[in-house]
Amino acid sequence: MTQPLDPGARRAILDAVDALRDWSVETLARLVRCPSTLGHEQSALEAMARNYEALGLSPRRVPTVPAELATHSGFSPPLIPYEGRDNVVAVHRPREARGRSLALQGHVDVVPEGAADMWETPPYEPSVRDGRMYGRGAGDMKAGIVSYLTAFKAMQLAGLQPAAEVQMQSVIEEECTGNGALACMLALPKADAVIIPEPGPGLDALYTAEVGVVWAWVTVSGRPAHVRDMQAGLNAIEAAQIIGAAFKDYEREMNDGSRIHPAFRGVNHPVNVNLGTIEGGEWNSSVATRCRIGLRVGIMMGYTAAQTRADIERIVEQARQHERLRGAQVKLEFKGFMADPCVFDTEAEIVRLARRNYAEVTGGSLRDYPATGLTDGRFFALYQGTPVACFGPDAVDIHGIDENVGLDSMHGITRTIALAMAEWCGVERV
Ligand SMILES: [Zn+2]
Repeated sequence: MTQPLDPGARRAILDAVDALRDWSVETLARLVRCPSTLGHEQSALEAMARNYEALGLSPRRVPTVPAELATHSGFSPPLIPYEGRDNVVAVHRPREARGRSLALQGHVDVVPEGAADMWETPPYEPSVRDGRMYGRGAGDMKAGIVSYLTAFKAMQLAGLQPAAEVQMQSVIEEECTGNGALACMLALPKADAVIIPEPGPGLDALYTAEVGVVWAWVTVSGRPAHVRDMQAGLNAIEAAQIIGAAFKDYEREMNDGSRIHPAFRGVNHPVNVNLGTIEGGEWNSSVATRCRIGLRVGIMMGYTAAQTRADIERIVEQARQHERLRGAQVKLEFKGFMADPCVFDTEAEIVRLARRNYAEVTGGSLRDYPATGLTDGRFFALYQGTPVACFGPDAVDIHGIDENVGLDSMHGITRTIALAMAEWCGVERV
């Protein structure tokens, strides 16, 4: 039962969000200045702890402990150790719990900036141009985090607070394992609903489904030789290319119309295999001894990470039979995502609340977004049965060069979260 929000309270919350607009842009800029790539999330986590303290909450750290998570179906094999990179959570408790509890979740990690010299302004020096903030992580997903912070602060400014428990979770490794989200989900009581303000693809959008992903690493060791005896050697880089190419046939096969789940109908090429990294070779005049490639393999709804892992093992095994790989050593490892695909319940009340409030405050509508990438939303939906509203602002080039987010759009998302939270949790006077 949604408590109808008193029109006076509604007006007061929206006015407070408007009054906090500059504050939210400054808060976003502070977060974007934290270069929180894998292993370097500490400054962003500390900034989030300070943000929670400024709301009058007492943040605490939640460690990611592989030994405690390893038997969970949502666990992914880690890439690096977790020491010194603990997630941060904070919990608001009402004077009298009357409404339903809510978790506001966001990841602080960002993907690497790529070729920094190709950015118009440096990736970790936020710059506002034409109403958009540029910087790595501005869209994915620091703007969303700032939206929920601002929404909560606006309620306080309006003399109100949620009349239910509200969890805030700042997690690491959304971009490579999701283990930070899993650790926090398990460390906190199950909430009645979750909002994850992940960005939309160039427009304000609501995630209706997401693909799964497996990360695989293939290391080929060849036979070194001087280039003058090239035929005597086995070039590890060329061998790795043959293996990488074998995945292109698989990708084509997995995008065949017959395999596409209804939730992804109309999405052009939803299952993507990305050859993301390659390292290898020693010298331009030596036949390369060793080469390692890193692959990201997408998974259509209806398939599992376990099946995809078996497919990858089969493809690599077949490719190593290629005549040009004869004598090569091939090692296949799985580190990083082992993530199942997921369809979100878009009829859930938290989703309907988000859609309705968005329409009322912006006059537009949140676009349905079956995503060809993934979010932390799967943990709550697949393993906890908690309804998830994953929606967020218009962001462009989120894993590319000159990533940016629309500030008007962020403001609309903030207004939407504030009202959805007030209706879902109910409000009490501070
Ligand atoms: Zn994200």
